[in-house]
Amino acid sequence: MFVLEYKIKANKSQQIKIEEAIRTVQFVRNKCLRFWIDSLPKARLKCFDLNKHSTQLREEFEFVKNLNSMAVQASAERAWEAISRFFDNCKKSRDAKFRVFTEKKGYPTFQKDNRSVEYKISGWKLHPTKRRITFTDKISIGEVKLLGKWDVHSLSVKLIKRVRIVRRADGYYCQFCIDTENSNSLPSTGNSIGIDVGQKVFYADSNGSFEENPRFLKTANSRIRLNQKSLSRKEKKSANRIQARKRLAKTHLRVSRQREEYAKRLALRLCQFNDLVAHENLNIKGLARGRNAKSVNDVAWGLFFKWLSYFGIKYGRQIVAVNPYNTSQMCSSCGTLVPKTLEVRTHICGCGLVLDRDTNAAINILKLATEGHSECKAYGVGATTQLGESLVEQVLMLR
Ligand SMILES: [Zn+2]
Repeated sequence: MFVLEYKIKANKSQQIKIEEAIRTVQFVRNKCLRFWIDSLPKARLKCFDLNKHSTQLREEFEFVKNLNSMAVQASAERAWEAISRFFDNCKKSRDAKFRVFTEKKGYPTFQKDNRSVEYKISGWKLHPTKRRITFTDKISIGEVKLLGKWDVHSLSVKLIKRVRIVRRADGYYCQFCIDTENSNSLPSTGNSIGIDVGQKVFYADSNGSFEENPRFLKTANSRIRLNQKSLSRKEKKSANRIQARKRLAKTHLRVSRQREEYAKRLALRLCQFNDLVAHENLNIKGLARGRNAKSVNDVAWGLFFKWLSYFGIKYGRQIVAVNPYNTSQMCSSCGTLVPKTLEVRTHICGCGLVLDRDTNAAINILKLATEGHSECKAYGVGATTQLGESLVEQVLMLR
């Protein structure tokens, strides 16, 4: 599954109707949660029971009936997501190994700030040009224009499994959840590449090239901090504060888009010119806490790997994550370990090899991937990192 996103051009009355749909989703979700809570401790309800309850709500409330029946069902499933996540956390915290990470069990709570509505395969219709979408349920949002550069044209409508409207700081967006299993492979290039993400450059590749850090990554944080400062200086509940909050939200949005575009472009290029792309198996979260405190690149790397696995699936390329252990210490020519601290930028080995530290590491990463050493993990179709997570929760995760 993958998500394509367009901005929506909707007029005032359409916006009101979108808000109505979003409110209804929240209403159904919360009602289902209430239904579950009230049934405790006697009954142990399942997702199926919540779905059934949502059908009852349709009969009870006219405005729920206006929303497409599958969209109502998707709202009930949101309640179930929250409940089952709570159960999962309880299970994990019983297991001593996970206790540290799951102190909060997250008892499902009533939602107040829902921002999205999700349709499945009915309740909407794409215009033949695929530049407009019509929502056909009784909420009657009607036809809206889609703005964006995505290639939804090249995809068959059958691949669209879900359609979602999301509210953001600067308007409404339409997301298409695409089934990526039927993809178009690109012809083989005969090339393989290894990449090593670093602090000095965004990444170094095994061919000896470097992708410099983009300027916006450096300035992003200071701009956000500036906006935050100005927000905190404003008086509570004042008009100025509302303005400042909007400004901050927009800055966040702009930065996250720049990151996304950048990550996407790099990943696409790598997949176009290589049959195999090897990278370190980074736990981005762990990295943020461990190595060198927090790096401004962490988020961008996460996105970069996400897009890499997306294009890998789309174009039939192999994306391999290898264990980064010793990749920067080992000599890529003779295999000797040459210990070096982070400050040492050049790899100098007794065998005569002198290379940039990151290039050396990238070559090692490629070697590990192609020689199939242990700890190698190839992303196959459906084995992507965050792409396979529940779509309902992904709305929250992606932004
Ligand atoms: Zn050597």
